[in-house]
Amino acid sequence: MIYLFCGILGGVVLGAICIPLFRKEETLESAIIEETEWDLLQRKKEVVLGNIQDLDFEYKCGKLSEEDYRKIRAEMSTEAAHVFQEIENIETEADLDALIRREVSARSRKSKSASADAVAACSSCGSPNPATNKFCAECGAKLKH
Ligand SMILES: [Zn+2]
Repeated sequence: MIYLFCGILGGVVLGAICIPLFRKEETLESAIIEETEWDLLQRKKEVVLGNIQDLDFEYKCGKLSEEDYRKIRAEMSTEAAHVFQEIENIETEADLDALIRREVSARSRKSKSASADAVAACSSCGSPNPATNKFCAECGAKLKH
């Protein structure tokens, strides 16, 4: 009786997994355009974790030998670890990008304000001096402001 129950439940679970997979296939092209790599990896992660969950369930139902279970479980774990790693890489990269953007904009703001100050050209030698300087750093001539 328990075997029959597991068989029916297993069939329902399998069907529930397969139907959206087939449906996904049709819209895969548009999905690729709309989704980022990160989104795809998130979906892949859900699928892999779902598969592991189903495998555990089937093993508990006695549909798999321990040997098969361990073998498939190990493969799935490797795949899951791979997906996790890819997601982590993307997230780290995204963080780094955001950090670089922030630093670059801070730098350009800084150099802009610095260049706004350094506009006093020496009337004697023509070298640019910070507007706050009273004397030319190059020739020592008094700067007119
Ligand atoms: Zn000068």
